[in-house]
Amino acid sequence: MHCPKCSHNATKVIDSRVIENGAATRRRRQCESCGYRFTTFERRGPEELIVIKKDATKELYDRSKIKKSILLSFAKRKVSPEQIETLIADLEAQWSKSWTEIHTTKIGEDVVAALKEVDPVAYIRFASVYLKFETLDDFKKATQ
Ligand SMILES: [Zn+2]
Repeated sequence: MHCPKCSHNATKVIDSRVIENGAATRRRRQCESCGYRFTTFERRGPEELIVIKKDATKELYDRSKIKKSILLSFAKRKVSPEQIETLIADLEAQWSKSWTEIHTTKIGEDVVAALKEVDPVAYIRFASVYLKFETLDDFKKATQ
């Protein structure tokens, strides 16, 4: 964290407060070189998100995993890499704003809902894997 006044790269935290139900931290900092005091708002990013898996074990959120399955769903479909990046970034922003720990099923459902808006084929491909349809009837019900 650089000092906004003298650009010195060492600042110390003199006060720290969690705000927005844990989604962000407000810090009062002081530059170790010139003594200038300033306030920062540090939003929690998706890299700090904990994912609860179906077997109840927890792991850190991994963008590459979700991206891989989304890319598979879009195979041979017309979509730009930017569209996929934006889609994932929007979801991540939503998740890290609302959760510190999130269930893998919630992630799957949100991706399904987002894909539904973008591409019907990618949506069906992703949904059939993630929602694990047992029968054709389940599949029809969910896609209606
Ligand atoms: Zn300074």
